[in-house]
Amino acid sequence: MITRPFLSMLLGLLFLLDGDNGGSGTVGAGDEKRMGIVNVDESRQVYVIGGGPAGLAAAAELRRRGMQPVVLERGEQVGTSWRAGYDRLHLHTVRGLSGLPGFGIPRAAGRWPSRDAVIDYLERYRARHELEVRGGAEVERIAAAGAADGDGVRWVINTTAGERLPARSVVVATGHAHTPYVPDWPGLEAYTGQLRHAREYRNAGPFAGLDVLVVGVGNSGSEIATDLAEGGARRVWIAVRTPPQIVRRDVAGWPAHATGILVSRLPAAVVDPVARLQRRLTIPDLTPYGIPVPADGLLSRVRRVGEVPLQDVGFIAAVRSGLVTPVAAVTGFEGDKVLLADGSALGAQAVIAATGYRRGLEKMVGHLGVLEESGLPKVHGGAPAAPGLYFLGYGVSLRGMLRDIAGDARRIAPAVARDHQSAPRP
Ligand SMILES: Cc1cc2nc3c(=O)[nH]c(=O)nc-3n(C[C@H](O)[C@H](O)[C@H](O)COP(=O)(O)OP(=O)(O)OC[C@H]3O[C@@H](n4cnc5c(N)ncnc54)[C@H](O)[C@@H]3O)c2cc1C
Repeated sequence: MITRPFLSMLLGLLFLLDGDNGGSGTVGAGDEKRMGIVNVDESRQVYVIGGGPAGLAAAAELRRRGMQPVVLERGEQVGTSWRAGYDRLHLHTVRGLSGLPGFGIPRAAGRWPSRDAVIDYLERYRARHELEVRGGAEVERIAAAGAADGDGVRWVINTTAGERLPARSVVVATGHAHTPYVPDWPGLEAYTGQLRHAREYRNAGPFAGLDVLVVGVGNSGSEIATDLAEGGARRVWIAVRTPPQIVRRDVAGWPAHATGILVSRLPAAVVDPVARLQRRLTIPDLTPYGIPVPADGLLSRVRRVGEVPLQDVGFIAAVRSGLVTPVAAVTGFEGDKVLLADGSALGAQAVIAATGYRRGLEKMVGHLGVLEESGLPKVHGGAPAAPGLYFLGYGVSLRGMLRDIAGDARRIAPAVARDHQSAPRP
């Protein structure tokens, strides 16, 4: 057993070594030249789209460099996605390694902050950095500016409030988990049970006494299935198409997140076999229950399809005790039945599709040639996808998305500040 002070020391070291961490958020005069602080004549021309962690982190870093970004958020408050989270939701990444630049998640949130603690943090983060967030209007489209829009203006942003906002720089941070995705299963429209996407799930209350099928064995699906089983659903099945990579959230106090940060940049050929061995040592064989060990490697899968491993917070025990029953993948619906890939059918009264999300960027920027066929931005993170156009929060890695967002926000802000310094003056 690793002792707690030793663990804290190791995690503290990781915090320092990895280098993508908080900082005080205040800027000394001597820092200004190094940071590329701008004289903010045309500061209103910097817009950040989305008031989630990524948008707030970008805005805070831009402000730290003397700019006055405006955050455009479709919800009424910051953290709209987190407000939609289920009651049981907690961060799977460690609090101290998940903070945004300039103000970390308070210690009081505990090691694995809850949904409400994250929302509270985002509200405080906005206040701490005095960020200007305009809520209640959705950005519909970003278009290239014309000569009439003025010198130095590159983009024009249109919102559902009818605004037309000229911008030199835009940071798009509308979320990797933007648009709930439900496969186009045959017969779905005639299904007589309830169908919900995981985004709509709050708790087991409405499903008490029902037979429920959860589709998809990722982090959300496995947690929702466990929640349903513990919360009074009569029977709970989980449909497994691709067997998941599974890790324990922590082993003897050492978090999987910390290991993820340490190995995330190593070759998959090195990490995959070690992860396979670790699974054999720490995760019981679930093959008899219908969840075999996958043939691919853990890091290979993250890089190939952007899918992080399932972190076990009770799912394994629920499967082994029979509270949650794995079944084959869903192939379609017929009346009140759900059809499965092994030829069987389930009489599920409710189906929860934990089948992922799409980026939903096509309408906003699809015409600009900046998206892959998959809908992901071709370039995201620190570099611009087009002059003055950045995408933040679209990468998936073992470091945790919040941590990557923090690092990328720190890279975007100085580039934007330098660009504005060299912009033509009005
Ligand atoms: C269930 C779940 C658990 C997660 N747990 C972790 C974890 O433990 N650790 C971790 O590091 N990461 C985690 N993540 C991943 C990631 O950190 C979060 O999804 C995080 O919220 C991403 O921040 P974001 O700002 O990029 O996106 P979001 O939080 O989704 O914020 C995007 C914002 O943009 C707004 N918006 C969208 N479209 C428009 C528009 N057109 N105009 C204006 N506003 C718009 C939305 O309303 C929203 O407020 C988790 C994700 C999910 C779904």
